[in-house]
Amino acid sequence: MVKKGAFGDSWYFNHILSGKPLVFAEEPAGYVPGTVYDDGKIYGGYYTKDQIREMIAYAAERQIEIIPEIEIPGHNMALLHVHPEFFCTGEHKVNNVICPGQEEVFPFFEKVLKEVMDLFPTPYMHIGGDEAEKSNWAVCPLCQKRIADEQLKDVYELQSYCIRRVEKMVNACGKKLIGWDEILEGGLSDNATVMSWQGTEGGVEAIRMNHDVIMSPSTFYYLDFGQDAPYKEPIAFNAYLPLEVVYSYEPEEDIIAACGKDYDPSIMKHLQGLQGNLWTECIIRSDHFEYMLYPRSFAIAENAWSPKGSKNYPVFREKALAFIKRIQEEGYHTFDLASEVGHRPEADVPIPNLALGAKTTWRKGDKVETADMLVDGYLGDWTIRRDPKWKEFNGKEITLDIDLGECKDLHYIGVEYVDFRIRRFRLPDDAQFLVSEDGVNFVPVYTPKLRLSDDRSHYCILTFGGTVNVRARYVRLQFNKGPKKLRGYLSEVIIN
Ligand SMILES: [Zn+2]
Repeated sequence: MVKKGAFGDSWYFNHILSGKPLVFAEEPAGYVPGTVYDDGKIYGGYYTKDQIREMIAYAAERQIEIIPEIEIPGHNMALLHVHPEFFCTGEHKVNNVICPGQEEVFPFFEKVLKEVMDLFPTPYMHIGGDEAEKSNWAVCPLCQKRIADEQLKDVYELQSYCIRRVEKMVNACGKKLIGWDEILEGGLSDNATVMSWQGTEGGVEAIRMNHDVIMSPSTFYYLDFGQDAPYKEPIAFNAYLPLEVVYSYEPEEDIIAACGKDYDPSIMKHLQGLQGNLWTECIIRSDHFEYMLYPRSFAIAENAWSPKGSKNYPVFREKALAFIKRIQEEGYHTFDLASEVGHRPEADVPIPNLALGAKTTWRKGDKVETADMLVDGYLGDWTIRRDPKWKEFNGKEITLDIDLGECKDLHYIGVEYVDFRIRRFRLPDDAQFLVSEDGVNFVPVYTPKLRLSDDRSHYCILTFGGTVNVRARYVRLQFNKGPKKLRGYLSEVIIN
């Protein structure tokens, strides 16, 4: 398996998230296990079992337990490359999810899991369970037969069926199952431990259902996100998760708040701990890995070890600065906390805007809502997703209408976008500004022309605007109806 599935076209890994398919490669001659191979054409690598045993022993001497994860049923692109017979029958829209309608899949995973569980002494086995895109299952005759035979309701219960069968294999070896919070979909046995990554709600719900939980929310603990102003940081999977935000997470508060007056302190025993995740889609060098890890991993450790309500960020920051200095002397590459830029300065001060507080109407197809953050007089911070200062646009035929309340003389119209191509953002080539006096008859006044290279990848905030000389009450921003679906975020429409 490793000889065929552990190596691929180097370009793919060095041009992160390019959207092009991975081309696998055979193990190159002369490859030394335990090293990263990159000759400019082929990239990859793997560990031997002896090297893994050595790693487990090294960690154990430092009171660290390593828990392995074998992904089931999704994230299996390498497995399906080597065993294409595990694809769903017929057309498969996704290329990394195995077919749970095939009986042969289960003895295969049983063998793999047993081999892995024999290797790692930990009482846990992590089986993944996350991001299994289910559109194959909905059209695969074998999956549909399994759903009928097992009297399952839908593809979500098929996932649950799959996880329950895998859990039996894990338990039969005397181990406990851990899975990402999607294992809650379609029901779950009480003994499973849930690792909660999709925000904090899933984990809190699981604890309320008396499951053991490890909190690992992407909103606080995804260390693959950038940690400072994106213009000075290496490219990252999401823009901004600074040390202070990582440090601010209080898992117990979320649980207490979610329970409200029904809170029973005994459920807190199910909170097993915290975990930071450093996924490496954008990271192929160890110095980059260390940079993302330090000092944010110190904050996660301090959160896990500190009683609720005992934390103090300024004090922690001083300790982190001292500790960074110490590990840098030992040769580690860390983020330069002393030179941290912090929040986007332009987002902290109000900007002049004639549209301040105007009535907004955001239309996408038949859906109508307001978008008041676009006329609140503030630009957005580096954060994009889940930041209420930014408005996502995703789809086609989107318009924003701004009613200024009365006719005004307008001299400038502009809009601030964020572009982040590696996350598949697609900004409009020719969004158009139109104006109207009566709200019925609109005339185009300005069309910002975006001329963005398809090769762009890094995060970028762009303001497009221009002079107009017009009197109007209504301003419309219209995303034109091109063939491609648009995706991106806006922080402010600026009218002066
Ligand atoms: Zn199938």
